[in-house]
Amino acid sequence: FKPATALAFDAENYPMSHEKIQDVKDTPYFIDNKFVSSGTTQFIDLTDPATGNLVTRVPQSTDVELRAAMESAQKAFPAWRATSVMARQQIMFKFTHLVRENWDRLAASITLEQGKTFADAKGDVLRGLQVSEASCSIPQQMMGEVLEVAKDMETRSYREPLGVVAAICPFNFPAMIPLWSIPTATAAGNCLILKPSERDPGASMILAELAEKAGFPPGVLNIIHGSAKTVDFILDAPEIKAISFVGSNRAGEYIFTRGSANGKRVQANLGAKNHAAILPDANRQHFVNSIVGAAFGAAGQRCMALSTLVMVGETKEWLTEVAESAKKLKVDGGFELGADLGPVISKESKERIEHLIDSAEKEGATILLDGRGLTPEKYPNGNWVGPTIITNVKPHMKCYTEEIFGPVLVCLNVESLDEAIELINANQYGNGTAIFTKSGATATRFQKNIEAGQVGINVPIPVPLPYWSFTGNKKSVAGGGANTFYGRPGLQFYTQQKTVTSFWSSNDAVSKAADVSMPTNE
Ligand code: NAD
Repeated sequence: FKPATALAFDAENYPMSHEKIQDVKDTPYFIDNKFVSSGTTQFIDLTDPATGNLVTRVPQSTDVELRAAMESAQKAFPAWRATSVMARQQIMFKFTHLVRENWDRLAASITLEQGKTFADAKGDVLRGLQVSEASCSIPQQMMGEVLEVAKDMETRSYREPLGVVAAICPFNFPAMIPLWSIPTATAAGNCLILKPSERDPGASMILAELAEKAGFPPGVLNIIHGSAKTVDFILDAPEIKAISFVGSNRAGEYIFTRGSANGKRVQANLGAKNHAAILPDANRQHFVNSIVGAAFGAAGQRCMALSTLVMVGETKEWLTEVAESAKKLKVDGGFELGADLGPVISKESKERIEHLIDSAEKEGATILLDGRGLTPEKYPNGNWVGPTIITNVKPHMKCYTEEIFGPVLVCLNVESLDEAIELINANQYGNGTAIFTKSGATATRFQKNIEAGQVGINVPIPVPLPYWSFTGNKKSVAGGGANTFYGRPGLQFYTQQKTVTSFWSSNDAVSKAADVSMPTNE
């Protein structure tokens, strides 16, 4: 891949390797289309998960800076909403094109800050890019409906932007998840304040630079930084009309409750424990390949990772093949050629994952493949956990009840499809699930009875493309999943409906008496 051409605010020093950065720069914030150094004294160190080297310091935006970002967005809104939808569409075309042109650079920033392999980081960018591409059809998407409801009378519906909206993003998809919000919210005519994860804001900063180049007017996209304090500002600012959140249940349930209590719209995608049911008639090799990719890819740090296997009947014997295949995966720095999975995000995360593996051992499960203690020679200081497979797991065990969010596959045994469905439905999460079978009847029974938002049939990570919506279920979403991301519901989330009924008659002869009963228009 080509060397990075780097961030606008640090054009020379954006590396495409894990080498130590000599001249570490602080991450700026982005307001009125300018990168600005924060005046804060509080910074969060961002280290390369493969080496532990400092990459940048992320500021905790000050109250003044948070307010300034808000006021900039508010000021930009009237002109942006008045900009014709075709003009906004042209900007989206340009933005989409620039994201594609800067694909490698975005991916490199993800590998450096988040740790996933460069090839996987390119997928992260692509899945966001697809949302941006879909936003280019904004004129069609914004079209309302009209009906002549009575003589000389018609009713028409409009979709109007909300005003200033905000997005709070997680660490695991530094490009894709900001791109679930940036194109949809702004194409619809809103001004967006985005708070990337404090653990990897680099991709968002590049997206901001591209938005400016694409012709976003100042204030339409502003980027602020920090953790809980910045989130509280977003939750409480009355000017912010809607909040998009993706992340853990701990943060998301708080954000949904406080944001909703403050009268805002909130869409919140939360944690997961995605199960796959394996039936004895499944294609064995396809199952093995699919599971190894979906459980260990991105070091298991995908919200749609398949982290839990429900082995039906004799399929429990197939796990040795899964272990053989997983053993061959190369755990290495994400820029290294041939790396299959990189490190996990932080030292705390590594400790938490290892602690959950220890707990499984203590509770009587079997560690079929143990990734604890694995360290690639070149990277002794990284946050490494190798692929791990835990078998003979029972539903009460901690490794089953908690989201692990690491390269750990947890396996349970059942005797029938109905038992598999019952087990999966009893789990508190319902983000995604999959079934592996050659039987259409079995797959249909599973699909109809399973309580999960995204179902894959012989497909391990069924993340819907942007023409559909991302539809979690149960505790994987807040608020019952009414406000889903992207697709038609995503646009609905970012727009207010208005319904106008008008009466235009060329006949001036009107009745002399007022009618006080409820108009029925019949
Ligand atoms: P996180 O909840 O720790 O952080 C997400 C965002 O919330 C960050 O911007 C962070 O600054 C903020 N935040 C964290 N703690 C907070 C607090 N106490 N108060 C206010 N704000 C807070 O999540 P993460 O570790 O970055 O991401 C991993 C989690 O996200 C996993 O649980 C994963 O399943 C989930 N996730 C879900 C989806 C989905 O679509 N369902 C997609 C990606 C990730």
